[in-house]
Amino acid sequence: NQTQVIVCHGKGCLANNSPDVASALEKAIEGAGLDANVKPLVKATGCHGCCSRGPLVIIEPGGIFYQKVSPKDAEDIVNQTLVNGEKVERLLYKDPDTDEILPTVDDIPYYNMQERVVLRDIGYVDPTDINDTLARGGYKSLAKALFTMTPEEVVQEVEKSGLRGRGGAGFPTGRKWRGALAAKEKKGGPVYVVVNGDEGDPGAFMDGNIMEGDPHLLLEGFIIGAYALGAEQGYMYVRAEYPLAIKHLSLAMEQARELGLLGENILGSGFNFDVQINRGAGAFVCGESTALFTSIEGRAGEPRPKYVRSVEEGLWGRPTVLNNVETWANVPRVIEKGGDWFAGVGVPHSTGTKVFSLVGKVNNVGLVEVPMGVPLKKIVEEIGGGVPGGKKFKAVQTGGPSGGCLPYDMKDTPVDFDSLIKAGSMMGSGGMIVMDDRDCMVDVARYFLRFLEEESCGKCIPCRLGVTRMREMLDDFSQGKGSAQDLEDLKSLAKAIQDGSLCALGGSAPNPVLTTMQYFGQEYLEHIENQK
Ligand code: SF4
Repeated sequence: NQTQVIVCHGKGCLANNSPDVASALEKAIEGAGLDANVKPLVKATGCHGCCSRGPLVIIEPGGIFYQKVSPKDAEDIVNQTLVNGEKVERLLYKDPDTDEILPTVDDIPYYNMQERVVLRDIGYVDPTDINDTLARGGYKSLAKALFTMTPEEVVQEVEKSGLRGRGGAGFPTGRKWRGALAAKEKKGGPVYVVVNGDEGDPGAFMDGNIMEGDPHLLLEGFIIGAYALGAEQGYMYVRAEYPLAIKHLSLAMEQARELGLLGENILGSGFNFDVQINRGAGAFVCGESTALFTSIEGRAGEPRPKYVRSVEEGLWGRPTVLNNVETWANVPRVIEKGGDWFAGVGVPHSTGTKVFSLVGKVNNVGLVEVPMGVPLKKIVEEIGGGVPGGKKFKAVQTGGPSGGCLPYDMKDTPVDFDSLIKAGSMMGSGGMIVMDDRDCMVDVARYFLRFLEEESCGKCIPCRLGVTRMREMLDDFSQGKGSAQDLEDLKSLAKAIQDGSLCALGGSAPNPVLTTMQYFGQEYLEHIENQK
């Protein structure tokens, strides 16, 4: 029951000097002369979620929520709250519409409208201390799987859950695992498991925050998956731009090995499994499965034709299960609460929750986790607090650079795998960029095309030349050059790129252009007409 003073050390709060806030709080606690037996613990955690209001300080138990805290607030927090049990009013959250003070995490709509399954412990657990994870129930699902379930029963539970891959394609995880087991049975020899931690979409930071803020959750899910598949070696492919994630994962593995949770004879069960971290070198295309495998194998990270599925021939030609960070992180929850429970969250063909990074022209920038199928407007307007100034949002880009821009009129679109595809966009890994009436949609499409042009590996012509040509055409439109015929040519080119590209980067590159033309075609015409 020790009082904990949680100081968020997620990306947003770190950028606003949360370590200085933590040091100032520790100093103030020392100076307050509190009895050593009741001295509060200052705890640095991963991202608490509400990044735009950081640095955040949360006092537990009770969940008092202090926002935009600076080191000079530390003495007031200690003297008023920790010593006298009163709140520091100026640091509390105020409802922007009513000015009502909402003093605790549970009072704030940003939090209480979410359903945190994967993010349950992030922002509360110390990611550098395995004992803190164990105290919050970490690794219980692993013990349950190892000692009360057969590998087959674990696979069945994941199948029952309906969990679909959170990395973009939404392929059913249980079916993928089943495919790898069938290939293993046919071929004999080892099967590999791989974490895709190469999150590279502009505006996406979900997986990075899971790895930084709750590395043991990912590791636990990964070990359970390895047990189900009979894998003895796993690889975590993490982008080099995430040094804190790599640091926390490395530490988590070291601590897990010391406690017998990783390595030989895990918890005395006779199951052996170990993990190696591979750092990506900054190429967006290495998030693509075949490029990721060749990169781990030590070769240039370029996609290759997928004549055979990676569950049959993946890493070193062996059956391989590749899932992204969030997918693996869901596995302990599926084992803990059961596949039926998981299948009951969300909507029938998109079960469970999804983590989004909500960025752009929105009041509450940060990490959001909601059941699949909630309407877009709930995420942007209710949880996200809408666009600053009370304006309507103009568009929301979902699915990263390969996704699409949905207009305000589609605010009721359920956010799930199938509904987003039907609307012309996609779920992607969970980046969500909000735009307002100051954003030119031709410029938005140009931005994503330029990103993909730079990240194209250049191996196949439709992507290498086609994406560049599309970007050049958009450059012309933005300068008032072009004709209505060019718009038709742009559509034909987009189709050729979609049909002829070797991998998903090229195959989906035209999406932002096509959706902006579909929903904001008038803006393209205005650019052209302005030249007259
Ligand atoms: Fe490389 Fe683009 Fe072809 Fe993919 S589609 S292989 S990124 S050139």
